[in-house]
Amino acid sequence: MMAYVCKYAPVEIVKGFGEECTLCNPMPDNFAAADQLTHRNICSFSRALIENRLKNSSGALLLTNCCDSLESACDVLRSINQMVFVLNLPHINKHCSKNLYKNELLKFIKDYTAYSGKNFDYTKFCTAFTQDAQEMSGKYVAVMGARLSEELLEFINKASPLPVKNNTCTDVRRFGNPPLTDTLEKLVDWYASELLSQTPCMRMADVSSRKMLVNDPNLKGIIYNTVNFCDFYGFEYMQLRKQLTIPILKIETDYTTQGAAQIKTRTEAFFENLKLPLTASPEKKQFQAVHPRPLEQQYTAGIDSGSTSTNVVILDSKQNIVSSSVLPTGVRVAESAEKALEDALKKAGLSKNQIYRTVSTGYGRANIAFRKRDVTEITCHAAGAHFLNPAVRTVIDIGGQDSKIIRLGENGTVLRFMMNDKCAAGTGRFLEMMAQSLGLTLEEMSTCGLQWDEEITISSMCSVFAQSEVVSLIAEDKKLEDIVHGLNLSVASKVIALGGRARMKGEYMMTGGVAKNIGVVRAVEEKLGSPVLVPEEPEICGALGAALIAAQNQFTPLHSGR
Ligand code: SF4
Repeated sequence: MMAYVCKYAPVEIVKGFGEECTLCNPMPDNFAAADQLTHRNICSFSRALIENRLKNSSGALLLTNCCDSLESACDVLRSINQMVFVLNLPHINKHCSKNLYKNELLKFIKDYTAYSGKNFDYTKFCTAFTQDAQEMSGKYVAVMGARLSEELLEFINKASPLPVKNNTCTDVRRFGNPPLTDTLEKLVDWYASELLSQTPCMRMADVSSRKMLVNDPNLKGIIYNTVNFCDFYGFEYMQLRKQLTIPILKIETDYTTQGAAQIKTRTEAFFENLKLPLTASPEKKQFQAVHPRPLEQQYTAGIDSGSTSTNVVILDSKQNIVSSSVLPTGVRVAESAEKALEDALKKAGLSKNQIYRTVSTGYGRANIAFRKRDVTEITCHAAGAHFLNPAVRTVIDIGGQDSKIIRLGENGTVLRFMMNDKCAAGTGRFLEMMAQSLGLTLEEMSTCGLQWDEEITISSMCSVFAQSEVVSLIAEDKKLEDIVHGLNLSVASKVIALGGRARMKGEYMMTGGVAKNIGVVRAVEEKLGSPVLVPEEPEICGALGAALIAAQNQFTPLHSGR
């Protein structure tokens, strides 16, 4: 049994020895074992590979000298006596490089014969070529950039409304038919040329033919993957971003299962907006009436199950907000959703069976059993903000544990979005921690910084370090108002930096619990140099968007790809 990781690997030669040769594309939970043997600054895929091989060392591993990270992984695995074959892969596809690679392949056949004690079989080699080229007909979405784990590829395939083409490192390998020849040299000469003639990856010197990957009218969107500490793919993404008009979502994977969870919300939001533009503005009243609902069920509900609070909005058939509720989420997401809905129903004097449809959003969206559909926070905040004010072009949402920037088009569709859900810095949780350090309630914190005198910079990007910065400022007897203003500015700087990558523009609306903090809103306005709209109840914007989606006539009861 042999495992391989690169599309230029001579898989068919291994099968020519009668051996299985399978793609190794692991996604471990963490790199606990690998990090004891290697430096953390190698690419996440190489760490995942080491972690996987430490747990499953059966058979040999077939690598190419793709990059320093994979070569480091090879050194680590050889140092623990694992059998690793490494082929010297040329960077160009010219006559001389084909010759070089032919010799590499011939040497590999000799080495593998010595290692396995088996002989290379021409027939087995020829039957190893499976023409599994995915010639897509019709519209499709492509995954491009660095390799993606099987789990994430499978998730994307499930969540995508269109067929998905894998154009990453692990994409399908295309070959012609092996020539009838009696010499191994001629056979391997042909094979080396076929291997090097595949669509070049970004590691290759000449990548001009990669443009054919994007010059296809049927290509309706791209998910572009970069891997932590992989240098090959960041550059191409920036180029594609500039030249393409189709939607393109950049994801960055760290090749662990935790990292995958964050990717899922982004890809779901990308697909939600690839499919149906959400037009929920008040003047589009025509569809509220046309959609037949049982007379006794004239209301729709939206539930935003967030990390800190669970928010509910109930709309009547004329899209008026008849009730809303904001309750702490606590540890049981589904229970909190039930409680928040009951609270909103009670306020409106309604009962649950008068609700025609419920749509959920937020972290816990998939855990609300009575939902008709779950939709990402990106799409719901966009719909809610557009409904509240169609002139809004950028939503700045700072929630309990994440912050989002959502760029809107004229009819409320999501044009671009950026999320920071990797760390709590600059979110509601950050402000809670700082308020505790300063002995303030969040309400006091909201206005305290408005009376500032001295501009203090809180530079730390990490909540924990920022807390120690605050403690030292207190020790320096700095004015409380100045410290709080410094914190407001640091929250504003973080969200503006996120927005910079989304190329945000006005009108601006701030939503989420932190929008109730006047000091932060003023700091964001100061940084933007522009006023920011804040709705009366900023934290229910997501739930409002969900309730609006529930009211849509083109409603597709979908559950996310889970
Ligand atoms: S970047 Fe290129 S050479 Fe490296 S593993 Fe991917 S396909 Fe192979």
